[in-house]
Amino acid sequence: QLTLPPAEIEKALDEAYNKFKDLKEGKNADYIKELASVDPNIFGVVLVTTDGKVYTKGDITSMVSIQSVSKVFTMAKVIEEQGAKAVEDKIGVDATGMRFNSIVAVELQKGKEINPLVNPGAIAASSLINGADSAAKMKSIMQVHSDFAGRPLSLNWPVYVSEAGDNLRNQAIAHLLLAYGRMYFDPVQSTDIYTKQCAINVNAKDLAIMAATLANGGVNPVTKKKIVTPETVMHTLSVMATAGLYDNSGIWLYNSGLPAKSGVGGGLLAVCPGKFGIAVVSPPLDAAGNSVKAQKVIGYVVDKLHVNPYLVQ
Ligand code: GLN
Repeated sequence: QLTLPPAEIEKALDEAYNKFKDLKEGKNADYIKELASVDPNIFGVVLVTTDGKVYTKGDITSMVSIQSVSKVFTMAKVIEEQGAKAVEDKIGVDATGMRFNSIVAVELQKGKEINPLVNPGAIAASSLINGADSAAKMKSIMQVHSDFAGRPLSLNWPVYVSEAGDNLRNQAIAHLLLAYGRMYFDPVQSTDIYTKQCAINVNAKDLAIMAATLANGGVNPVTKKKIVTPETVMHTLSVMATAGLYDNSGIWLYNSGLPAKSGVGGGLLAVCPGKFGIAVVSPPLDAAGNSVKAQKVIGYVVDKLHVNPYLVQ
């Protein structure tokens, strides 16, 4: 396994940060009202290696809501509890090639042509999480996110309240899945759990440690705690590769080769298996809902460090 010299990592992060820091492209998500008023200038870059070294640039303390990046960790938890086959059969693991909240995607194969990294599959995942009631399920989801991050995370209540009060589309998705026999707990409560999970607050460093835990086969490289099995990580990364950036997942993989996951709060993390996790927080998004600066910074770092796993030299 190749080791990356620290000086090279620092140089790549420095260059990427400076090259893109003044870029003004993209726009905050505003369909969740609270996200429109998040400071668009928050810009933090963190890389964490599988031996636990943390490299940072810029703003690594400002908190944003995790949004869709959370789908990764709830998916991993459901695989741990139910097994990989159950997730394949009960939720689905195929890329939709459509927007994250597409209803057409659910309609196509009566809810089978989805995966846990888009809204329908993620709401189905919340419905599947072990727990006697909604509070127990939410507690378990908070715990797994905190374990991946290596510190106790908490909810951004204004973001949760803002999305929960205007959430009919996700509620419709949950009910359509119920109609197709693919919702495994009350649809209203499952959507609520999902919405809370999306409102978990994180900074760039949290996301990078979470990514590094995936890069390290499920063991948090900072706390050394084993969170999930290597097999769970393997299946999770596969879906991140095909569906982590919604309908732009193909373009992303074509350019970086790395499994990744974005969220409309402006967070994006990518995993270089065996080597490192990297994350960027920058709220302005492109038309697909992915952070503009984050994609550019991670793409640049992957190129500079020659870590696209499909590159054989
Ligand atoms: N909570 C958001 C939603 O359900 C998450 C979407 C995202 O980050 N793509 O619409």
